[in-house]
This record gives sequence, structure tokens and C-alpha cells, in this order.
Amino acid sequence: MRTRVIMRESYSSGNFSGMKTAFLGLGAIGRPMAARVAAAKIPLTVWNRTAFRAAEFAEKTGARHAATPAEAVRGAEVVITCLPTSHDVYDLLDGPDGILAGIERGSAFADCTSGDPATSRRIAERLAEKNVSFIDAPVSGGVAGAEKGALTIMVGGDPAVLDRVRPVFESFGQKIVHCGEIGAGDAVKAVNNAFLATHILAAAEGLAALVKMGVSPNVALDVINASSGRSNTSMNLFPERVLSRAFPRTFRLALLEKDVGIAAEVARETRVPAPILQLTADLFRIGRGELGEVADHVEIVKMVEQWAGTEIA
Ligand code: NDP
Repeated sequence: MRTRVIMRESYSSGNFSGMKTAFLGLGAIGRPMAARVAAAKIPLTVWNRTAFRAAEFAEKTGARHAATPAEAVRGAEVVITCLPTSHDVYDLLDGPDGILAGIERGSAFADCTSGDPATSRRIAERLAEKNVSFIDAPVSGGVAGAEKGALTIMVGGDPAVLDRVRPVFESFGQKIVHCGEIGAGDAVKAVNNAFLATHILAAAEGLAALVKMGVSPNVALDVINASSGRSNTSMNLFPERVLSRAFPRTFRLALLEKDVGIAAEVARETRVPAPILQLTADLFRIGRGELGEVADHVEIVKMVEQWAGTEIA
């Protein structure tokens, strides 16, 4: 605890000279995470598929930006990736501009993608060819949590590798938990997001029915949020995003669909009958088809509203 406090003080005083870090993937959540790394005065190089976003980020934060993944990871002691899927990370490994062409032997690789355990194991095997250690380290807490440096980070892999990466993680994470072997972080993240997805669907169906009965959704949520059915969905997402009709785009529905699919796959692999997970995965797949790739996860409520012929407002 003491070490952590000292570290935070050093960040804010600007004296911290940390490990050379490369950050690949400046999307909705990756960008504020990388901004926290830069603000902690950790020497940072960023890469993004759409190059101008990396250039803009570098301009704003003082980080260096690289033209290729190989160039970004060259010389880095810690490499962090945050892409939509584990497959996207795997696809960056090979080729003359790929990660394996530039990565330093003995460095540590943390994938903050909400990934899938099987592909994380394959990535770890490929990196091991270069004596690079891998941990899966998905995050939770959303864009607002990333901006505040308050993410939860769930980690699979060797705890000693986590300890090496921890000073960088502490720039954007508040609660950092080792969950088990490689893939365990991915699995915990997928199950967490499956809870989120089921909560949103159940809340949408239940509140749509109450609205059609003539009950105000504000009144219903006032009761539910003081009762046993409450959740982050009922306490925060519905009041802030649905009742207000704001539906801000912070976390794509397509990504939540991917996460619920991973949770259903984990249940299949472990031979746990999981009809709720499978149904939720199917409903989100339908929602992704109907609402498209850029829709926010909470917009699945619009699909339920359309089926119900009412608006939760
Ligand atoms: P976005 O869709 O906003 O951004 C994705 C990023 O990955 C962009 O930088 C994009 O580059 C890049 N990218 C996409 N496809 C490829 C590819 N094939 N090769 C290389 N780069 C690629 O996603 P988020 O930032 O929201 O999410 C990233 C990860 O974090 C996901 O796994 C998500 O599930 C997870 N997550 C997201 C949260 C959120 O609130 N947004 C919360 C917690 C976890 P380009 O700029 O070129 O499009």
C-alpha cells in the first residue's frame, strides 16, 4: 500500500521515470488509458491502425508515435495492446512490420483487449518464441473510469509478470486482480460483461411492460433501486442513458456481443449448461445485426422497445 502511495505521488510530481512502454490501439478506451500512461511520465510510444489518431495523440500528450507495430515495440520493456478482439492482436504479430519483428527479448506483453482465453494462449505461445512473457489483462470501468485512472484490471498469467507491469497498470488502474492462468482474466471479464448484458435485456423487458401498464419508469426505477433487483444498469445506465434518451456511444454493442459470446464459449468448454448466457449471446447477435457496428451497447434497449411497441421514457 505504501509503495502504491509513493508511486502516485511521484506521478503527480512528474519525477517518475518509468519503463519504456509501447501502447497499441487508441480506440474509445485505449486512448484515455494511454493518456494516463503519458501523464504519469512513463516514456511512451503509441501506434494506431488509423495513423492520424496516433499522431494527434502524440501531439497532445508528448508521446512518440510509430508508423508500424514493429517500430512501436522496438526498445519497449512493456507492450500494451487494446484492440477489439484477441484475433486482431494475433494478426499484428507477423510480417515485416509486425510485433514479433520488433519486440525485445525478455520484455513483458500485456493485452488489455477483452479477449478470448484460447487465442490468448496462442498469442502467449508465439511471444514465448522471442522469450517475451504474456499476460491477459482486460479492463472494466468504461471510458469515464479510464479517464480517472480508476479501471479494474483482471489478469491471467504469471504473477511475476504482473508485478513487472504493475507500475504502468497503476497509471490507469485502481483495482488490479490476479485471477489465474493465462486466459483467466479474459474469462472473468467475459462473465462480468455477460452479467451486464443480461441486466440490460431484463431491465428493458421489465420496464417496457411496466410502461405499458401505465407505471412511470422513473417511479419504477426509484422503487427498484431501493430494492433487491437493483444493479449498475438500473442505478446508472437507465437513468442516465435510456430515460434521458441520450444513448451516448462509449462502448460498442458489437464488442459486448463479442464478450457474451466468449462467456457462452467458456461455459461450453467447461461443460456448464448455460441457457441464459447462450440466449443473451443470441439476442445480442440479433441486436448487432439490426443496430449495426457503431451502436452503443445500451442501444439494445431500442430493439426491445421496438418489439414491445413502446418507449421507456
Ligand atoms: P474501439 O472500437 O473504440 O477501438 C478499437 C481500436 O482498435 C481502434 O484503435 C482501432 O483502430 C483498432 N483496431 C480495430 N481493428 C483493428 C485491427 N484489425 N488491427 C489493428 N487495430 C485495430 O474499441 P474500444 O477501445 O472501445 O475497445 C477496445 C477493447 O477494450 C475491446 O476488447 C473492448 O471490448 C474493451 N473494452 C472497452 C470498453 C469501453 O468502454 N469502450 C470498456 C472495457 C473494455 P482505428 O482507429 O484504425 O479504427
